[in-house]
Amino acid sequence: MEDHDLDIAIAGGGLAGGLIALALHFRCPDLKIALFESDEKIGGHHRWSWFDSDLSPAGRALMSAFDTASWPAYDVRFPKYERTLGSRYNSLASADFDRAIRRELPAAAIRTGTKVVSVDEGGITLPDRQRITAGAVLDCRGAEIGSGLSGGWQVFLGRHLRCDRPHGVPRPIIMDADVAQHGAYRFVYVLPLSDTDLFIEDTYYADDPVLDRAELAERIDAYCENRGWKGETLDEETGVLPVISSGDPAALAGQSPASGEGAGIIADGVALGGIRGGFTHPLTSYTLPFAVENAIAITRSAGLPGAHMAQMMAQRSADHWRQTGFYRLLGRMLFGAALPEQRYIVFQHFYRLPQALIERFYAGRSTALDKARILSGRPPVPVKRALHALVTPGAPLGGKRNSKRPEPERNSA
Ligand SMILES: Cc1cc2nc3c(=O)[nH]c(=O)nc-3n(C[C@H](O)[C@H](O)[C@H](O)COP(=O)(O)OP(=O)(O)OC[C@H]3O[C@@H](n4cnc5c(N)ncnc54)[C@H](O)[C@@H]3O)c2cc1C
Repeated sequence: MEDHDLDIAIAGGGLAGGLIALALHFRCPDLKIALFESDEKIGGHHRWSWFDSDLSPAGRALMSAFDTASWPAYDVRFPKYERTLGSRYNSLASADFDRAIRRELPAAAIRTGTKVVSVDEGGITLPDRQRITAGAVLDCRGAEIGSGLSGGWQVFLGRHLRCDRPHGVPRPIIMDADVAQHGAYRFVYVLPLSDTDLFIEDTYYADDPVLDRAELAERIDAYCENRGWKGETLDEETGVLPVISSGDPAALAGQSPASGEGAGIIADGVALGGIRGGFTHPLTSYTLPFAVENAIAITRSAGLPGAHMAQMMAQRSADHWRQTGFYRLLGRMLFGAALPEQRYIVFQHFYRLPQALIERFYAGRSTALDKARILSGRPPVPVKRALHALVTPGAPLGGKRNSKRPEPERNSA
């Protein structure tokens, strides 16, 4: 690899690219790496959350590099059921992600404010045709949702509120679905970041990728008012994430799906990471657990030529797609079989199941027995509609997103 400018070039300094850079720096400190990010900040403007049970011990060790909020348990609330679950839950703000990566990596390895024009097996090209050669190239530039995927959307507005007195919320409420549903599966997500600080997110599993920011802000206002939470809004974030129920992950990489359902990503000499490589939980839209484990796997192959690393990641993507088929089927049931106002019943039913099963579900590691238990019992959706949904791919995602033009993410309240 010594003939190249870099041993490994990483395009895209979001969650996946940042984690890969950090893991390589910790585990392969002799390698010459660089992270190229078009924005001035690493990690964008997000808050990422995950369960301890999502990660391997090595994954938990990697995430310990960050300042995170962490709680030993969490609550869920539905109209006819509520529960406290004893799974440790963690949350990381992108500002803390950026800070830790800048603290750990040498400054020369961080190229923020640098747009990557193109990537190929031999390196990357920057504006003005500046060429950086690399022994291996990782493309983590986020998804390009092309045609070839079907499903629905997870749409949300989150607010960081500093209350003028202690709010009294003891632990996260991951789903408070005991709220008006407004034609979707709606729930409010609450994280007590400190005695006075709350992160409150209004979330919808919706058929359309439409985010009406003013409407969601008003609903958060009303939710807070009902609970006596008053104070100053420090920040807001929005998300419009795909909930994938069928198709081909190649569409996430901007590749034309070649041979239909699950044909997979073409390696083409460049390794794909993060959502671009298809590494997402089809139903929760979470990517963090897979991004962490991929970062660790990449350190084990760091000495391989780029084409081998690309092949290894394409294989991991294909394995991931195969292993997450059950969640796409549940997505088809959720969007195709449950009437929008009744979708909460699916989750109310799910949350009565054992905690260990719920943990494996979020981690994307449900066993055959788990799947049987999730599907058994009195179905929470009409049987005829469920059978129809099983054999129907769902609404196309790519075309819909383009035609509805969701509000782009913005940076602050
Ligand atoms: C508001 C929000 C909250 C979320 N919360 C969670 C959560 O709690 N848990 C979870 O697991 N998932 C969550 N997700 C989903 C998912 O984990 C994130 O979207 C995650 O950031 C995806 O990681 P990524 O690295 O694949 O893509 P991104 O983080 O989007 O990173 C892609 C990066 O590439 C950069 N880039 C793009 N083009 C170029 C270019 N040409 N040159 C250089 N750089 C480029 C972008 O600026 C960006 O920084 C959330 C998503 C959003 C939007």
